Amino acid sequence: MTVRQAYNSGLAALSEAGFESCEFEASQLMSFSLGIAPGRLNFIFNDEISPGEAEAFDLAVKRRLTHEPLQYILGEWDFYSKTFKVGKGVLIPRPETEGLVDICLEKLRYIDSPVIIDLCAGSGCIAITLARLLPSSRVFAVEKYDDALFYLNKNISFFSLNNVKAVKGDIFDSSLALSLPKADAVVSNPPYISSEDIPLLQKEVKCEPRTALDGGSDGIDFYRAIRSNFSVNPGGFFAFECGENQSGLICDLFDAYPNKQVYRDIYGVERFVFVERLSE
Ligand code: GLN
Repeated sequence: MTVRQAYNSGLAALSEAGFESCEFEASQLMSFSLGIAPGRLNFIFNDEISPGEAEAFDLAVKRRLTHEPLQYILGEWDFYSKTFKVGKGVLIPRPETEGLVDICLEKLRYIDSPVIIDLCAGSGCIAITLARLLPSSRVFAVEKYDDALFYLNKNISFFSLNNVKAVKGDIFDSSLALSLPKADAVVSNPPYISSEDIPLLQKEVKCEPRTALDGGSDGIDFYRAIRSNFSVNPGGFFAFECGENQSGLICDLFDAYPNKQVYRDIYGVERFVFVERLSE
């Protein structure tokens, strides 16, 4: 059997099951099963596929047919042009979250050697990207769950950065901030889906940890906890990602801070809230 024949049968199975972007997904699963970069696939389509590779592809397609996210099957996903390890137990980095990194990078241009705390760090995509692009910063990536900490630590070691550290902690614990240095920036993409909307999520999203999605009855429990338990240095800021229609509620929570901005994401949705503490 050739690579093309195996690919075509996987493609047919995905499209019969009603998946979108089947060509993209089948190529990703095939290149993953062959251990090659997706761009190389075109050059080896007429080669024979070994029985082991065909079996690996078959298994990958079967997993995808159960609606397991493509990213979990591949075991990695790109964020801000770099590849992060992901798998069951950790939220998959989303393209819109790159906008949160952009806001932080823009605002941190004015702060020397900043201390940054990323709360609910998950895979570490935000913390690691900031640490990588701001070598003089010190970044603390706080995560509560062991399954997510596993990927966070793996990603930190993979990038060989010495200015980012994983910290196990629960942001609802009011003593957590005491174990961390005072921050110039507190950044977070916390769980923000309201509990009642969880059952409505796509099957793929339901495979992601509920603890990374569920933000309580109105979806903003984590922002409340962050407002109560964390502060930033004068001239510093909080930067959040949030759900559609939550930016106003989050601005209200931070009513003691006069300077706030709401930003839209790549899809035009009001997605980020920036809250600045005035310099003294
Ligand atoms: N901060 C991580 C991310 O943006 C994880 C967020 C979460 O688990 N809610 O991907």
